[in-house]
Formats: sequence, C-alpha cells, structure tokens
Amino acid sequence: MKRNLRTIILTLARCLKLQCPVCGRASIVQRPFNLKGHCDSCGAIFKREEGFFVGAIMANVVATEVLILIAYLACVLLTNLRDQWMLMILFAIAVTFPLAFYHHAWALWLGMDHLIEGLPREDKGQYRPRKRVG
Ligand SMILES: [Zn+2]
Repeated sequence: MKRNLRTIILTLARCLKLQCPVCGRASIVQRPFNLKGHCDSCGAIFKREEGFFVGAIMANVVATEVLILIAYLACVLLTNLRDQWMLMILFAIAVTFPLAFYHHAWALWLGMDHLIEGLPREDKGQYRPRKRVG
C-alpha cells in the first residue's frame, strides 16, 4: 500500500466519518458500541485476533487524558473556579468523553493499522485468525 500524504489524509477523513479506512464505502459501526466484523463493501476485517481492541482502548484513554489535561489547564489559567466545580467538570469529562469517543477511537485504530500494515480482507482468504493459546 502506498503511504503518501494524500492517502494518510484520506484515511483520517474516513476515520472521522466512521467509514471503512480501506474503501470508505461502508460504516464500521453496526449499532452503538458494536462494530461490524468486516466491511460490507470490500471485506476488510475490522475485528481481528483477540487483543486487537486494546489499541482502540489505548487511543480512547490517551485522548481522554489529553482532553482532561487541556480542560484542567483551561480551568486553572482562564477561570476562577473553585476546586469543587473544577473537579466536577473534569469528572464529567472523564465519564462522558470516552463513551462519546468510543467509535472514533476504534476508527482511528483501524485507520492506523490500515496505514501501517493494511487491513486483511475476508474474501481473499489471506487472513487466518490466530488460535487461542491455553
Ligand atoms: Zn471497505
């Protein structure tokens, strides 16, 4: 797969729209908080081996922590809020943002995986899920 600036921007745009990072013709979301196993259009596999989801969780945690840090700095530097109110705001962000960002974290993780090594396709038979050890 060619990785140039145009491909990277196109993949990120598809991620923001929650579309397949490979073809951009189908959504990656089946229903809220549940992703499709593969792309309906091109067959790219979204749910790969066990543990693949850890990267999406990591992206969500990192994004949440960055947002909390930005909100904290904004509260400290730009407002004169009491600590109680500031903690309530930060807590509300910490609880709601990961839920709101769930699908986009998955999309970004899939997009990064697509850019780095390419998502395997279901129809070509090139993907063989690893067997569970133990
Ligand atoms: Zn696709």
